[in-house]
Amino acid sequence: MKGVTTKILHTKLPKNDPHGSIHMPIYGNVSFEFETSKELADAFNGRINKHIYSRISNPTVSYFEKRIKSITDGLGVLALSSGMGAIANVILTLVGAGDNIVCTKYVFGNTYSLLKYTLSKYNIETRFVDPQNYKEIEEAIDAKTRLIFLESITNPQLYVTDFERVAKIAKNYKVLLVADTTATPPPIFRAKDFGIDIEVISSTKFISGGATSVGGLIIDYGSYKWSNNPYLYDDYKKFGPYAFISKLRNEVFRNIGACLSPYNAYLQSLGLETIQLRVEKACKNALVVAEYLNGISKVKNVRYPRLKNYPDYTLAKKFFPDYQGAILTFELSSEKECFEFMDNLKIIKKSTNIHDNRTLIIHPASTIFCEYPKKERERLGVTDSMIRLSVGIEDVEDILEDLDNALKGIGGD
Ligand SMILES: *Cc1c(COP(=O)(O)O)cnc(C)c1O
Repeated sequence: MKGVTTKILHTKLPKNDPHGSIHMPIYGNVSFEFETSKELADAFNGRINKHIYSRISNPTVSYFEKRIKSITDGLGVLALSSGMGAIANVILTLVGAGDNIVCTKYVFGNTYSLLKYTLSKYNIETRFVDPQNYKEIEEAIDAKTRLIFLESITNPQLYVTDFERVAKIAKNYKVLLVADTTATPPPIFRAKDFGIDIEVISSTKFISGGATSVGGLIIDYGSYKWSNNPYLYDDYKKFGPYAFISKLRNEVFRNIGACLSPYNAYLQSLGLETIQLRVEKACKNALVVAEYLNGISKVKNVRYPRLKNYPDYTLAKKFFPDYQGAILTFELSSEKECFEFMDNLKIIKKSTNIHDNRTLIIHPASTIFCEYPKKERERLGVTDSMIRLSVGIEDVEDILEDLDNALKGIGGD
């Protein structure tokens, strides 16, 4: 099997279901019964591999993990209750007091808040760097740097990083490279091929399909030598390349309890079945919408990585050869005009999420970035006249018509 969709649809079910269910059923139970006391003890001691308690592992969740593994070729996959849960678990496993993280300054808002406010209390320092300034990235690394964290396409700035350059720096310094690829999940981006050691994804977005449930993923590609991390040194001796996944499952993830519910695992697994179709449609639509907006005089600074005049076009084409995501931004003349335009829309919904099946729109400065002073917002590339659009899978003529009517209703020509 080669194709992504075939692999997903035909991921082997673990055992023959007594009723021959064609889907992995939802195992809503908490605990699992054992035949003998010895077997129960063996499971606890890791001598046999069986589900014990659903916070640690669950058949429905494991099946979702197996599907992700089959399309990413990861060494280990862990599904969690949210994207933030995935990010926090990676960091808490690998970084301790006195250590530091090198992270792009254009990072998802809650990730920024986690690093800047939550983790700094535990004496974990984050050095925020420009994702396209490779010298700055290199200079921020020291002996206490445990990982470099970046996003595949930043949101809403839509910058693309040269992953291969950063991977080279990371390898030179034996530092782990973690990428949040929520904007470009499989099948858009093959993280494994570009030197990313750990991929984290908010499966709430593209994977869930239609924004049905919150979830997150950690994918370990087995490329990092875990003995380089002081907290995994002993685990590496015991488990070799599986040190990190084992540490998560048997300690950090287990103890923190950000497990994905089996009901949500079922929904996400179902969403995953159509990800290729939806990604293709949404990204194709996004390009049509970006080109349309680019031709309208009231609209300025359309940013979409696939537009030919876009500064990161070449990088985007290299790392995301087929599809460059479904998020684009553009500017009108003022915040007032943005609000007027958005209120004129009939189909496109005003909402904060991305990669819903529906097209969603938001004014970032007054919402996602409302906690930041204006100066700081502008430093982050978020102007008062900027609008973000997450293009959905509707028939593109309807999206264009909605945008066109709403634009006609605002000031200008
Ligand atoms: C949404 C998002 C997250 C957080 O994911 P949740 O599932 O909402 O916790 C992290 N990173 C990026 C890039 C996101 O878009």
